[in-house]
Amino acid sequence: MPFKSPFPDLDIPKCNLLDYLFPAGQTPSETPIWIDAKDANHNLTPRTLLQWSKRLALGLDRIGSKPGEVVMIHTPNHIFVPVAYLGIVGSKRIFSGANPAYTVSEMVHQISNTQASLLLVHPSLAETAIAAARKAGLPKERIFLFSDTPNASAEGLRDWREFLPSTSEADAYQFPHISERGSTMTTATVNYSSGTTGLPKGVEVSHHNLIANLDQTIYMRYLKKPWDASNRPREVWLGFLPLYHAYGQLYTIAMAQKLQIPVYIMKQFQYEEFLRAIQTYKITHLQVAPPIMVMMSKRPETKRYDLSSVTDILCGAAPLSKELQNEISKRLDCEIVQGWGMTEVTCGAIHVPGGTIDDSGSVGQLDPNCECTLLDDNGKEVGPGAPGELYVRGPNICIGYWRNPRETKESISPDGWLKTGDVAVVKDGWFWIVDRKKELIKVNALQVAPAELEAVLLEFDPIADAAAVGITLEGQEWPRAYVHLKDEFKGKTTEKEIHAHMKEKVAKHKQLVGGIVFVDEIPKLQSGKIVRKVVKDWAKRDAAGM
Ligand code: AMP
Repeated sequence: MPFKSPFPDLDIPKCNLLDYLFPAGQTPSETPIWIDAKDANHNLTPRTLLQWSKRLALGLDRIGSKPGEVVMIHTPNHIFVPVAYLGIVGSKRIFSGANPAYTVSEMVHQISNTQASLLLVHPSLAETAIAAARKAGLPKERIFLFSDTPNASAEGLRDWREFLPSTSEADAYQFPHISERGSTMTTATVNYSSGTTGLPKGVEVSHHNLIANLDQTIYMRYLKKPWDASNRPREVWLGFLPLYHAYGQLYTIAMAQKLQIPVYIMKQFQYEEFLRAIQTYKITHLQVAPPIMVMMSKRPETKRYDLSSVTDILCGAAPLSKELQNEISKRLDCEIVQGWGMTEVTCGAIHVPGGTIDDSGSVGQLDPNCECTLLDDNGKEVGPGAPGELYVRGPNICIGYWRNPRETKESISPDGWLKTGDVAVVKDGWFWIVDRKKELIKVNALQVAPAELEAVLLEFDPIADAAAVGITLEGQEWPRAYVHLKDEFKGKTTEKEIHAHMKEKVAKHKQLVGGIVFVDEIPKLQSGKIVRKVVKDWAKRDAAGM
């Protein structure tokens, strides 16, 4: 029997995300919400954010961009990313964010895969974007510079502000109505994830998925607090999670607006700047991933800053040991709760309710409106306390993979069950993630798809065959490659040459930090599929000997 959330179902609105975030009849506030962490005078209020978003929506109409088209963003975080997100999504276009660390090849994949019709790029990344757009066949006139200040034309690109109408023209603009049914079918965002297997794929998330996941996450955060979401002490957040990822988008953009919580946006994550911002702005709540917990534990700078304003921390996106969780909780004298999610569930589906003291390393309880089941290798349900692959169903499960019905069918059953590739145990309604069955490697909580690394390795002429896998060293996961060289290159091609090839082709977090090993053969099934279990065992054996 599937396991249902222990919490009562929420009545989740079905409409345009913008109508949910800016309800009709409510005047948007004039208090800054998105604040530049380097210069607090540089900020946007809900009123100015809405105004800019309307200008962007109308401007896009005027340059011939149509609803349903993908607009891609390639930029580090800044206070205008929420404008792009809400302007694009609210006008029934589709927002797709690319990691600012991407190389030309990675950008080509995302531009081609999304079939983006327009690209907004930060001036510092223009060169990469232009080269990628050329290869992907996107005309240069469809690329605009996009940052938090006006830009002079550069590299032959115009600034996005040049196609915006005036503020007064945009005031009358209304975001299009989306019907109840439309809300579940209209794609809002396409973020990238490799799912349980293969190359990174666009995850199609609808307006209703986003609204549902906001309502679910807000419910879980305030459920056990002595106040509710509308009547709570002043909170201040720090926005350093990447805004091209679902985790950053849900909290820093949408939830900050829904709950009217000021969020100081960091353009780049730098540990000491992070500590200084917490101290300066008296940050009360942090959303983090495990690498930040490791830094808090290990880096000597931590002690030099006053972090006493932090009352609670949410940690998600990768495994966090209960030892580390408890150590930081004690050291900072604050509550730390975990949550589990993936891009395909919009952001999260399991959370420890805020206000709970948990020292067991649990990722929490199932969000309202969700159900799940745990299955063994034979597809049979497992009992309490036994490990099984987690399947989840609920209003936050994505529509599917963008223009990829085959992969959608592999991952989401016709009756809505998402295969997560994560192995969990459940006891009394509480979940622990105990293993990962899928191919995914997580580096600094960011996805690395083995299939992508293998494809890039095979582009290097001396390599006949390759398998990539995660290796865990001192609690951190890194990509490692087992490489079979062509006979004529054996003893000649070096690890250094392979590293140089990878550096040119993929972003920093995908580099083979876990090492390269030359082998005589990659274990394969007759079908040509890599026997991943064997390769994983090699990595475990190697890690033990390191
Ligand atoms: P992403 O789609 O980038 O958010 O990655 C989702 C994957 O991250 C999940 O399928 C898990 O493998 C992993 N993950 C997310 N949250 C947790 C968590 N709290 N504990 C362990 N793994 C997690």
